[in-house]
Amino acid sequence: MCGFIGLIGTDAPVREVHDGLLAIQHRGQDAAGIVAYDGRFHLHKGEGLVRDVFDPAAMAKVRGELALGHVRYPTVGSGGAEDAQPFVLTHPFGIAMAHNGNVVNYRPLVERLQRRGRRHLLSRCDVEVILNVFADSLARHAAGGPFSHEVYRAAVSDVFRDVHGAYSVVGFVAGEGLFAFRDPHGIKPICIGRRVRRDGRVVHAVASESVVLEALGYEIEHRPGPGEAVFIGHDGEVRIDTLAEPRFRPCVFEFVYFARPDSALDGTSVYRVRERMGRALADAVRRRGIEADVVVPVPESSRPAALEMARELGWPFREALVKNRYVGRTFIMPGDGARRRSVRHKLNVIASEVRGRRVLLVDDSIVRGTTSRQIVAMLREAGATEVVLCSTAPPLRHPCVYGIDMSTRRELIARDRDEAQIAELLGADRVVYQDLDDLVAAVRAESPADLEDTCHACFSGHYPTGGVDEQALADVELERLEAERERG
Ligand code: SF4
Repeated sequence: MCGFIGLIGTDAPVREVHDGLLAIQHRGQDAAGIVAYDGRFHLHKGEGLVRDVFDPAAMAKVRGELALGHVRYPTVGSGGAEDAQPFVLTHPFGIAMAHNGNVVNYRPLVERLQRRGRRHLLSRCDVEVILNVFADSLARHAAGGPFSHEVYRAAVSDVFRDVHGAYSVVGFVAGEGLFAFRDPHGIKPICIGRRVRRDGRVVHAVASESVVLEALGYEIEHRPGPGEAVFIGHDGEVRIDTLAEPRFRPCVFEFVYFARPDSALDGTSVYRVRERMGRALADAVRRRGIEADVVVPVPESSRPAALEMARELGWPFREALVKNRYVGRTFIMPGDGARRRSVRHKLNVIASEVRGRRVLLVDDSIVRGTTSRQIVAMLREAGATEVVLCSTAPPLRHPCVYGIDMSTRRELIARDRDEAQIAELLGADRVVYQDLDDLVAAVRAESPADLEDTCHACFSGHYPTGGVDEQALADVELERLEAERERG
């Protein structure tokens, strides 16, 4: 999971990209980068939060009329500074690129690039592979001639054919314009906004989440569909092409956890979906005959669902867990040690709200159980007489190979355990999981499109893209273990 923004036509694109990255900092706290072009590429990137990477001196170095930026959550790369995005290639034409997602056939593509294209990579970041496949195709189709829209279309078609996995991409071609494309399954979100300047010129932005565009004063102009490629020229013309057969399977986990509640993904309100998830989970609690005195959300993602659960069940809602907002999200904090340390720094219990009460605790998901176990213990220490843990996500049993570094298979607590065994491990009285059908139904019910299905591979094991076999799963796990080792 990562976040990006790209801009063309504004007076201060670098400042806007910086502010846009702050709005999507929740999508990655590991590294940040901005590249701009004013006849020369100006690139600055590094490890840390946007505010750490971009001090005034760094901001002054990056300038130009075309700009894009990225916040990273580590996936295939080891998480070092060399893997931070965006990436730039000077040949052909000069291309900058950033993405959100993960390439499933990373290793075979790297070998092919080295063997056939004589291209060698600088990092272990998979956007560098997409960039090189794209650049290779651009050079081949241009055949020494100028850049053209036909050449762009042909190169994106090649990417769609050759690169398997999930990828929403933003980039620019020096002096030509801003581009964006989305893999044929449309797994990762992307949207395009427009704003009219005081002088009447229309300017455009491409971003991972609608909330970024809203924060910068853009209105949503287009939501690129699966297999779509967009090109926005300096004249403001937006050209949209569908270049692969669309098989739309957007990530259902975005609605559970990643996206901000004030975002709409492909026009689907994240907040509304979370409310529906709460109503469905309340039903599951009722069916099990569970009784409680208070409903307590684990801040922040589960709050809309917990509120709905409290309303449906008729039990008081209490914000008994208070978050220190200056400590990062535990789920996207690399390393189990860092996660364990951060939970007690991050959350505190208001004892008066749980003492002597049966608590229905609502969290967005249970991955390894590290965080949940500590929260349950904290509630008991504060005097809760019972703790029933409800997860708005179904049991996570399979690794995500599309860019969400949740865990290796053996670390997933629900991998081969039922609710009772998980409750025992977590020290809870009961555990209640969302039903997968209910989760998908919640997204479909709010979707303005006729959404057939979502990606739910981490729950079901059904990976919508090709190329995910045992070897691919083993490769991704190996990369994760290596990355984890390198991070200590
Ligand atoms: S496997 Fe899960 S987290 Fe990964 S893209 Fe699919 S739904 Fe999202």
